[in-house]
Amino acid sequence: MRKQIAAANWKMNKTFQDGKELLETIVNGIGNLSSDQQVIFAVPFPYLMESNKSINNKPNVFISAQNCHHKTAGAFTGEVSVDMLDSIGIKYCVVGHSERREYFHESNAELAEKVNLCLSKSITPIFCCGEPLNIREEGIQNSFVEKQLNDSLFHLDAEAVQKVVIAYEPIWAIGTGKTATSDQAQEMHAHLRTVLAQKFGKQVADHVSILYGGSVKGANAKEIFSQPDVDGGLVGGASLISAEFLQIISALK
Ligand code: PEP
Repeated sequence: MRKQIAAANWKMNKTFQDGKELLETIVNGIGNLSSDQQVIFAVPFPYLMESNKSINNKPNVFISAQNCHHKTAGAFTGEVSVDMLDSIGIKYCVVGHSERREYFHESNAELAEKVNLCLSKSITPIFCCGEPLNIREEGIQNSFVEKQLNDSLFHLDAEAVQKVVIAYEPIWAIGTGKTATSDQAQEMHAHLRTVLAQKFGKQVADHVSILYGGSVKGANAKEIFSQPDVDGGLVGGASLISAEFLQIISALK
């Protein structure tokens, strides 16, 4: 079975002390996860090492970076490399979040480089894709998201692509309180799985976890996650509230 994942994206929120308390409260509140379930916390860079310590090797709980640079090393002041993440034992990295695509002009080509670097260090990229509202209104969201995958993931071989987690996050649903309906989520996830199957074969497509992101909350997680091609969620706002995120974790298949 594919991994069912609840991934928290803290973005640029919480002081170190508040984040530590939040992480500990949630980790202590997680019941037994099955071997197919995972909980991931994408925390700000300065908290990565300490957060990794505080989860204390709890099975199926991981700390993720929210970004990495697309070059290996060098004169890139303020940036963080994949080697740096690897050197402190980080196993996941969010790649291509829509906020980074928009505010930092990250291109599909750069994201392909980030994916390659992550995989070269056995760091799982949580690759974000998703369409803006105008594309949804035009009804061309399937081809738009397909191109994001095509440009940043489809150079990989079948073995490598199975190591990527995809997060479908319609931009109009991120931080807006406007969730895609479970049908809309399922439709896109099924489309992406079909595209993966066409390119890499059905067996590979059936292995790739595809998370939904966009205003997931405790109250709507169960319905969204119950869709056959939705393998959990990438969660922003609601991941900052322990009771909400615990409810989201308990909604995993
Ligand atoms: C996100 O940042 O990836 C996200 C989905 O945010 P929110 O849950 O707040 O919409």
